[in-house]
Amino acid sequence: MNKPKIIWLNVFVFLTTFLFAAIAVPYRAITHGFDMAEIVMAVICFIYCGMSITAGYHRLWSHKTYQAHWSLRFIFALGGAFALQNSALHWSSDHRIHHKHVDNNDKDPYSAKMGFWYSHIGWMLREYQASRYSNYENVRDLQKDKIVMWQHKHYLVLSALMNFGVPLIFGFINGDIISALLLVGVLRLVLSHHTTFFINSLAHIWGKQTYTDKNTARDNGFLAFFTFGEGYHNFHHIFENDYRNGIRWWQFDPTKWLIKGCEYLNLTSKLRVSPEDKIEKAKLSMTLKRTQQRLAKHPNAELMLAKLQTEYDLVVAKLNDFYDAKKQLLANKKAELMSDVENSELHKQYIELKVRFNEQKKSFVTMSASIA
Ligand SMILES: [Zn+2]
Ligand SMILES: [Zn+2]
Repeated sequence: MNKPKIIWLNVFVFLTTFLFAAIAVPYRAITHGFDMAEIVMAVICFIYCGMSITAGYHRLWSHKTYQAHWSLRFIFALGGAFALQNSALHWSSDHRIHHKHVDNNDKDPYSAKMGFWYSHIGWMLREYQASRYSNYENVRDLQKDKIVMWQHKHYLVLSALMNFGVPLIFGFINGDIISALLLVGVLRLVLSHHTTFFINSLAHIWGKQTYTDKNTARDNGFLAFFTFGEGYHNFHHIFENDYRNGIRWWQFDPTKWLIKGCEYLNLTSKLRVSPEDKIEKAKLSMTLKRTQQRLAKHPNAELMLAKLQTEYDLVVAKLNDFYDAKKQLLANKKAELMSDVENSELHKQYIELKVRFNEQKKSFVTMSASIA
């Protein structure tokens, strides 16, 4: 079978920027050095590009996990062009297909089952899915967003303006155009490219399947550090409508903090989160599954499996009781049916159910962990 045609423009851009970053940047660092202003500017631009992709292209436009003021969308549209990852419309269309047909080598544009190289960068080097390239049926909603369409229409000019304009203006002011082009222009772009690409490659290979094993996506705190929080990719693939990827307060997810922070400034609204009970259930069912797999080789497998199942059924029952009480309590609070919520019978019941659920969860998790 003939391989699809090579996309020479992409090959040229990826290769030349990479070579400049790998050879010219270190050479300049040794022979000339970079000053603090150049380093700080490169870091700021790297963060700007990365967050425009994660908060803008990904969580806002691809998944609609929140709504954003036009000014913020405008900032993301410019940052996305700066990151040189195609228009928001095209990116989102690809990404929605990735979620819908994840790991399907014929449909997923960057299927992880095609291997590291393909899912990282290879998929952009040849016309693998040329037939659907301009089919934007799955992003009709985004076609109503004037900023998305404006960026899509003028993408080439905008990306050239951002990638050359920002380093040139900065270099002119700072007094060293070559250093600015190398650091703020090229190195920033290459790092921004590959950290994003890691989400399609490494985040589908390396890490834990905390919530589901129906696809290759993994949770990886180390990767989250370099990808503005997107390393919690297993959670993201099962709860894609959630504006968070790292859902615990201690999980490194600056994109989540940005979206939440902007809510206080009235720049973002309608932040969507997944129901806590569904998240808990997904995690518990994966713990059960992993323990069952480990138990298969155990001499007493049948008896142990039955015991484990009993513990699991109990934890799910208690989880349902607890979350039912929680929902009831919240509904009453909302309807202002109770004058003294803290001292109500329902609140006492809720606390009691919470304790019982947590005890049972601990017992189930301890039992699972003891089966090595
Ligand atoms: Zn996604
Ligand atoms: Zn993915």
